[in-house]
Amino acid sequence: MARLVLASNRVPAAADRGVKSGGLVSALGEVISGGLWFGWSGQVAKGAPTKAQLRRARGTVYATIDLTQEQYDRYYVGFANSTLWPLLHFRLGLMEFDRAQYEAYLSVNRAFAAALAPLIKPGDIVWVHDYHLIPLGGFLRELGITNKLAFFLHVPFVPPSMYSVLPKGSELLAALCAYDLVGVQTITDLRNLLDCVRELLGRPVDDMGRVQTNGHQARFGAFPIGIDSVGFARMAEESAAGADGKRLGESLGRRALVMGVDRLDYSKGLPNRFEGFARMLGRWPEWRSKVTYVQIAARSRDDVPQYRTIRRELDQMAGRINGRFGAIDWVPLRYLNRPVPRGTLAGYYRFARVGLVTPLRDGMNLVAKEYVAAQDPENPGILVLSRFAGAMHELGEALLVNPYDPDEIAEALDTALRLPLDERRERWRRMWDRIREDDAASWCRNFLTVLAA
Ligand code: UDP
Repeated sequence: MARLVLASNRVPAAADRGVKSGGLVSALGEVISGGLWFGWSGQVAKGAPTKAQLRRARGTVYATIDLTQEQYDRYYVGFANSTLWPLLHFRLGLMEFDRAQYEAYLSVNRAFAAALAPLIKPGDIVWVHDYHLIPLGGFLRELGITNKLAFFLHVPFVPPSMYSVLPKGSELLAALCAYDLVGVQTITDLRNLLDCVRELLGRPVDDMGRVQTNGHQARFGAFPIGIDSVGFARMAEESAAGADGKRLGESLGRRALVMGVDRLDYSKGLPNRFEGFARMLGRWPEWRSKVTYVQIAARSRDDVPQYRTIRRELDQMAGRINGRFGAIDWVPLRYLNRPVPRGTLAGYYRFARVGLVTPLRDGMNLVAKEYVAAQDPENPGILVLSRFAGAMHELGEALLVNPYDPDEIAEALDTALRLPLDERRERWRRMWDRIREDDAASWCRNFLTVLAA
């Protein structure tokens, strides 16, 4: 089999795999063995080096490059996370655009291409990940790389009416067409992206999702990302019985656990979720002292101002909710900003009667799948899931909610807490069968098979 070369903005350090990471690292950590993983080191250095630093761990070569402060501010904080991230999560009101930041985004991608190109061998398959690196493939082509090039977008895609507000947006659409295969998470994202290619780029798309440009053919498809479901289930069982699990179990006593796990990000819908929990306690007082909601919201992107704003808002809300409903022996909402290792989380999920996952918009949301995988088949909890998470397509037996409506979240929580065991089992079994089948390995296999074709 050909060697796999991955490129993503962040490359996990061998030591922090799965802890500081988002969904991307969690999913790819399982398929990279034997290959090369290229990207930003996570470090800001005085002068940006032009050559990647190589490190080998567990059979994988990690090739990383630093950014300068200016590159970090303009490429990462700026265009990637203050323009593309809000836009692609349907948050036009939060989107900023600055021409200098866009130029920096292009020049960092060009520098990445120059550092990566010498590491690519004939026959390698190059697989680029996510919105930070859209132009990377085109720049590799300009440097003479003729290998198979693929791209996967982990975030959602917006329809043309929204995408068209992005200055230079057509350039990025054209950049996508430089790849051989472009994958997105869901059929909704695929439809939106292809509508943009047709309407804003003026290129025809055939019914196989293929687009021709100057003799080059790019194919577009939907490939919903999965997790290592069986491995995660095993980890959950072990971790729940371990020291961290016991500590959580003892601290809960007989109270039911509602559990949320997210990066602290405005796309995750946390204020509405807190409000939904508060309204549940207000409307059904019988749940007071009977339910504990643990929300882990790992701090992320602190350098983007909107992330500091939402953190302040959530601090205040958590204080208000606990002040209003708390009792001398009961804290209704335990709110933690530290990241928790995935293995520990797995055990926590298993204790949770309700998994609460209500992003306003999410490419997939791996936490939803992890929660399902972690359940005890004999006594599974129930997932409350946003209609606007990509995972909704595969997890339709969850209690689906509109995350913009805190009352709907409150009602779903009440329903979830009352759901009888046989119905919980029935719903869980269907979701489990699906995520066991469509796991991380099959996601990767499917994508690479289509690429090879
Ligand atoms: N995660 C973690 N520790 C935390 C918070 C999250 O390990 O404190 C993991 C979580 O288990 C999941 C990933 O980070 O694998 C988050 O992926 P998701 O798709 O839900 O959201 P993203 O962060 O990619 O937007």
